[in-house]
Amino acid sequence: MEQIDNSSKQTQQEEEKKDYSKCSYDEVMKMIEETRLNCQRTMQICNQSIQTIGESIKTVNEAKQNIDGFFDQYNKAMSSLCEKIAGSFSGMSRSFLKNENTDKLFDDSREATIQECAQLFKDKKKVVFLTGAGISVASGIPTFRGVGAAPLFEKDGVTYQNEEISTYNFMKNKPDIFWERNLIFLGGQLGKKYNVSHLKIQQLVNQYKQIKASQHGKEKAYQPQAVIVTQNTDGLHCQAFNELNPKETNYMNKDDPQYGFCPDVFEVHGSKTFLRCDNQECKDYDKKFLYPQKYNSYKDFICETCKTQARPNVLYFDESYDEKNYRISTLKELTSDMDLLISIGTQLDTGYAAQTVSNAVKEKIPVIEISLTPVIQKGGLILKGKAEEVVPKLCDLIMELNKQYLQNKQIPTQQKQVTRQTDQKIQNPQKDQNIKRNSSFQSTNSSSSNSTKTSTSSTKPVVKTSLNQNQANTKTVQKLQIKQTSARKPNVKIGLSTKEKK
Ligand SMILES: [Zn+2]
Repeated sequence: MEQIDNSSKQTQQEEEKKDYSKCSYDEVMKMIEETRLNCQRTMQICNQSIQTIGESIKTVNEAKQNIDGFFDQYNKAMSSLCEKIAGSFSGMSRSFLKNENTDKLFDDSREATIQECAQLFKDKKKVVFLTGAGISVASGIPTFRGVGAAPLFEKDGVTYQNEEISTYNFMKNKPDIFWERNLIFLGGQLGKKYNVSHLKIQQLVNQYKQIKASQHGKEKAYQPQAVIVTQNTDGLHCQAFNELNPKETNYMNKDDPQYGFCPDVFEVHGSKTFLRCDNQECKDYDKKFLYPQKYNSYKDFICETCKTQARPNVLYFDESYDEKNYRISTLKELTSDMDLLISIGTQLDTGYAAQTVSNAVKEKIPVIEISLTPVIQKGGLILKGKAEEVVPKLCDLIMELNKQYLQNKQIPTQQKQVTRQTDQKIQNPQKDQNIKRNSSFQSTNSSSSNSTKTSTSSTKPVVKTSLNQNQANTKTVQKLQIKQTSARKPNVKIGLSTKEKK
């Protein structure tokens, strides 16, 4: 290129030196003709170039269209694949429930009363509370998705989706951004306190433990057990456990093999409170430890044994449940004989939650869903509302019924019948709707008289803080009863939806 430039410069200089006054007419005309031809050739080349550029633009546009088409098809294929994977996880894909034959096997979920739901606890031996982000909203912790969700993280003009940034892959590839956002998020959670829902569930779990340890439990007349399973990583259930069980601190001892695993609470997605070593070669790989009290940057979060970078003790979207970090096998074994499931404040967007609920529905185990935006569309009893408004009422009522039972030493016959009726309603969806409505009315009536008795014999709550809540509770329960007796069917028929994402 340089050579060509130099030679054309030379010719130009020679031309400039030429004395045109000595040229003949013919010579001048010849030169003009040559120049004209040169210009013509240049124009031709320019036209050809314009044509080539036009063709290139056309080709690029076609390629873009092809790529767009490919991505469109790719996205469709991926969505279909994800749906199938989610279906196999949950054991209840949408196609499973779209099937007319199987659809008939499962009753649509319907709204229920707190009394009706409380009755379900009467003869249950293994009750599982499955909680999600909705239970911590009252503590000021935003949900991951949906209305009021945590804001998306922005850095240097780039917006990161919560799902994108919460992956192991992202942590490894963009540690600076990952940790910056993570520490902001963590900072927002520090100092947050458990709320009345966490407390009431823990009170109920404690009452169950007391019953089991009592003479009734020893005689095996009544041995209820409750398990708390949370998808939250905020540690608030464990806080409530600590509050109510101040002497059970073994698991908070670093040298305890169960260090970091709260006895009553299964944190299936880990806990942000802890860090853990991430070096597979390290002998303390997976060992949990707390954040250092003072640090300059995330690079100070290191495993003391191998001095490598630590990671949050949290299950990310591109990781799998395991026993070592999340006690998933222990949990599955413990809940294999579950006979009642209460889903609280969760959209069932994660594998364990979706699987647990759909398995329960399939096995016709009663499922109660407490949520502002219920998602269980088959086989569930819905208590629509905020967790902090519904959970305390339900737990107080169950604890009161348990006390009555312990005083009388046996479940009253009437309540036994109600329990069976309620179970049947879930298990026999073919039953005539009118009969259902009637039995629902009866059960509400009978429990209404119970709760009236309850309110007169005001009980001593397990923890002082619950006293007012307990007293206020019964009145509101009675109000709610009237509101909720008219059971209504949900709008959509399709099964377990994992779609409530906004
Ligand atoms: Zn290590």
